[in-house]
Amino acid sequence: MGGQRHDGAGGGGPRDTQPPWRSPGPPHSRPNAYRDLDTSRSVNACIFCRIVSGEVPSSKVFEDDHVVAFMDIAAVTEGHFLVIPRKHVETLYGLDSILAGHLMAVTTRLAKAAKKALRCDGMNLYQANEAAGGQEVPHLHLHVIPRYKGDSFGIRYNPTKPPREKLDEKAAKIRGAL
Ligand code: 5GP
Ligand code: ZN
Repeated sequence: MGGQRHDGAGGGGPRDTQPPWRSPGPPHSRPNAYRDLDTSRSVNACIFCRIVSGEVPSSKVFEDDHVVAFMDIAAVTEGHFLVIPRKHVETLYGLDSILAGHLMAVTTRLAKAAKKALRCDGMNLYQANEAAGGQEVPHLHLHVIPRYKGDSFGIRYNPTKPPREKLDEKAAKIRGAL
C-alpha cells in the first residue's frame, strides 16, 4: 500500500516538520512495540492491533506511520471501510488532538477517493464509543460508509423537540467541562 508519510524527508519547510507524536517507526517494527500502553494484555487480545501488526489478514486501503485503513469484514454497504490509529487507543476520549487531526485528515482523503472510485450517491462517517454507544471493538475506529440510493443502512433514532432553555442548559454544561 504505502500512503502519504510524514517522515520529514526532502524538505525543511514547516509542513515537513515531524509531528510531536511521530514514533521512530511503525509500532510493529519496534521490538518493544506498544510499550506506551497501559496493558500488553489488551493489545494482544485486540483484533485491530493484530490487524495493524499483520498477524490477522485484512484488505488494506491505506497505511502510514500512525493510521491504517482496511475494509470492514462485515460491510454494511459496498466499500465500507474502517480507519484506525496504529496505537491502541480505546475510545475518542483517549485520543490526543494531534492524532485526532491526522486521523480526520486521512479519513477525509480516503472518503474523497472512495467517492471517486465507487461512484456512491452519498457517504457517512460513523464512530462508536463504549458499549452503550454501540462500540463492539475496543480500538478506536472511524467507519467510512459509502451510501447508495435505496441501500439498507440506517441509524435508528427518535427526534425530540427540547425547549430553548434546555438546549442552552446542556450547551453551558458541556462548555463548562472544556
Ligand atoms: P463497532 O461496532 O465497534 O463500531 O464496529 C466494529 C467493526 O469492526 C464492525 O463493523 C465489524 O464488522 C468490524 N470487524 C470486527 N472484526 C473484524 C475483523 O477481524 N476484520 C475486519 N476487517 N473488520 C472487523
Ligand atoms: Zn488495539
